[in-house]
Amino acid sequence: MTKKRVFITGITGQDGSYLAEFLLSQGYEVFGLVRRTSTLNFERIRHIQDQITLISGDMLDQTSLTRALKDIQPDEVYNLAAQSFVQTSWQQPVFTGDVTALGVTRLLDAIMTVNPAIRFYQASSSEMFGKVQEVPQRETTPFYPRSPYGVAKVYGHWITVNYRESYNLHATSGILFNHGSPRRGLEFVERKVAYHAAKIKLGLINEIRIGNLESQRDWGFAGDYVYAMWLMLQQDTPADYVIASGKTHSIERLLDIAFSCVDLNWKNYAVQDERFMRPAEVDLLIGDASKARAELGWQPQVSFEQLIQMMVEADLKLLKAEHRL
Ligand code: NDP
Ligand code: GDP
Repeated sequence: MTKKRVFITGITGQDGSYLAEFLLSQGYEVFGLVRRTSTLNFERIRHIQDQITLISGDMLDQTSLTRALKDIQPDEVYNLAAQSFVQTSWQQPVFTGDVTALGVTRLLDAIMTVNPAIRFYQASSSEMFGKVQEVPQRETTPFYPRSPYGVAKVYGHWITVNYRESYNLHATSGILFNHGSPRRGLEFVERKVAYHAAKIKLGLINEIRIGNLESQRDWGFAGDYVYAMWLMLQQDTPADYVIASGKTHSIERLLDIAFSCVDLNWKNYAVQDERFMRPAEVDLLIGDASKARAELGWQPQVSFEQLIQMMVEADLKLLKAEHRL
């Protein structure tokens, strides 16, 4: 039997690396889009690099996307590429819109040109709910984005729905709530807290500078969430799904858990810093994934507490190796 072929944008990112690993384990032939940089940035995929094929291109460059699809002829495409950090989206709103919003149209258009039978996954985000109109948030909750990133993701979501309805594409938008892992970017709060707790424990630094302690997020483990992406594309009929743990935690609670993993009290080390405050905040995210549970049979395997412990332990190991401790 010929192997299924998959094309992943954002393969060098957190989710791309977990998804590539999972699809390899399912027998897929995996292709990933990478943009040209002066230094390589393959840390998250180094361990599988000899099993995947990397294609040069950019979400800003239509030609590269169309050519990639023509060459690969994939069965499935997962669009995970984005300028994905909310804070940066205020400094680079136009760029964020170009990559995170218009990039989706470029890829959908490439699919229309090359083969409309390709199945498409769009990485939508709980940030689209922003100033929440309903608690918990579900597929039918109206969007009210609170950052240029959130606005760009709303565009990406609706253009996916629009192509599905206009051209009958098998196009799905997964509305994923925050998910982390030891591979999460250091700028995101759960990784920042895990990394700083480990650094403080090892005596490498003595404080963590942090922003809003009150906002609340619904966090899960990236490994569980990429499995949900794949399940969505295996359905006969495409639809949109919320993927979430259904539990929410404040930043204070995150600090409590991470620092208790290293037997420290965060209150002795945390300094509030204006630089990490945002012009507009998303106060309370909590998702209702009952549609995914009922239709996909999906539920998370890793709890928030287990996730943070996994991240702190991984950072302790990483830092000990780096500093020869
Ligand atoms: P990351 O920031 O870890 O990865 C983003 C990826 O996009 C990287 O591979 C990056 O490449 C790539 N990328 C950025 N700009 C371009 C471009 N112009 N052309 C090609 N590739 C580009 O994100 P995550 O893995 O955490 O998230 C995956 C997706 O899911 C993103 O779209 C994100 O917005 C969305 N999402 C994530 C959530 C989360 O909690 N993690 C929650 C909800 C949605 P490079 O390595 O070169 O920078
Ligand atoms: P987001 O949900 O995609 O914006 O993920 P982040 O991890 O960047 O932020 C989650 C929440 O943590 C937001 O409400 C931030 O305001 C809050 N937060 C508090 N302190 C920090 C910090 O130092 N860094 C980041 N990234 N977020 C912080």
